[in-house]
Amino acid sequence: MPDMPASPLLDRIVRLIETQGPMPVSDYMARCLGDPGHGYYMQAEPFGRSGDFITAPEVSQLFGEILGAWIVHAWEAIGAPDPVALVEFGPGRGTLSADMLRVARLRPAFLKALTLHLVETSPRLRTAQKKTLEDTGVTIRWHDSTATLPDDRPLLIVANEFFDALPIRQFVQGGAGWRERCIGLDEAGGLRFQAGLASLDEADLPPQLKTAPEGAVLETQPVANAIMQDLAGRLAGQGGAALVVDYGYGKTAVGETLQAVRNHKPVPVLETPGKADLTAHVNFEALARAAKAPPVAARPLMTQGDFLLRLGLLERAGQLGAGRSLAEQDGIRDDVERLAAPDQMGELFKVMAVAPQDVRLAAFDAA
Ligand code: SAH
Repeated sequence: MPDMPASPLLDRIVRLIETQGPMPVSDYMARCLGDPGHGYYMQAEPFGRSGDFITAPEVSQLFGEILGAWIVHAWEAIGAPDPVALVEFGPGRGTLSADMLRVARLRPAFLKALTLHLVETSPRLRTAQKKTLEDTGVTIRWHDSTATLPDDRPLLIVANEFFDALPIRQFVQGGAGWRERCIGLDEAGGLRFQAGLASLDEADLPPQLKTAPEGAVLETQPVANAIMQDLAGRLAGQGGAALVVDYGYGKTAVGETLQAVRNHKPVPVLETPGKADLTAHVNFEALARAAKAPPVAARPLMTQGDFLLRLGLLERAGQLGAGRSLAEQDGIRDDVERLAAPDQMGELFKVMAVAPQDVRLAAFDAA
């Protein structure tokens, strides 16, 4: 296979399994994405047409501008606090923050009140973010995790395609119960899936899963839920709001969503560790449960299409296209389709807002 890159991480993972035994899917995913030397986000150029996938902020500036308008509105809805922290999780190339800050400039008081906090583990992408954002004049702090985020001011939080990159666990119904899915070695010394020893507590399962057929796969997202729980606790104590955009589902169900993508095409999950992006769909029901920290709660889930259209995607696209050539206007129309049409990103991608219940959030809460 000529286009299959060598994977130094593969050798390391094989050796680890040889010495320590089968590796849970969550460990495999964490290593593939975050291994300091060979993890996907540490060395690859994932984004854009020449990369492996295109995210909404890379499709069009309209996406970040609309999220920016939502954030400015949320800032006003919580009483226009100064100081305030604008936090982005997993900022990629920094495009979303740059587009949001362009809108923030329309409210000089907001721009003056904010510092930007980027939660990013990849040194490579931190460098890219610094370059994208250096002209904004805004003070930026980078964080490895939520632990070092400011605790003395309200937080306005945005995460696009972040939660899908966090390690999930998989469990397989083996007939006599759920067993954790692991990665072991086949006869030829390559990687293969196999059942491990850890099991799932049946008491935790929603009723519809108790009758899942043999071979059914159930995914859980302990890391995503823990981060959301931490954020909700902070929002309850410090005030603020969070907006999570990602692909996912609104109700817990069986089904395997772990996927690897390289050059815009799906590839086998075990084929080239560290060389392909590895993601899983987000379970928004579980995330909403983790976001419960009274008075903080998640609002009912909305599709990306509904969210963007409610916040004026078409009007903004019209403004952006005014006075441009017909070809440019066609391009803008294509971008709008891509972001909001049900058969493109509009329906698979969901938007979840989290804030104290008395805060009125644009698009989610009645005026
Ligand atoms: N939000 C961007 C990029 C999405 S890709 C966009 O929409 O274009 C996922 C991003 O999350 C990358 O920046 C990646 O380096 C970062 N990331 C992945 N796992 C992370 C973790 N555990 N902690 C912090 N950042 C992480």
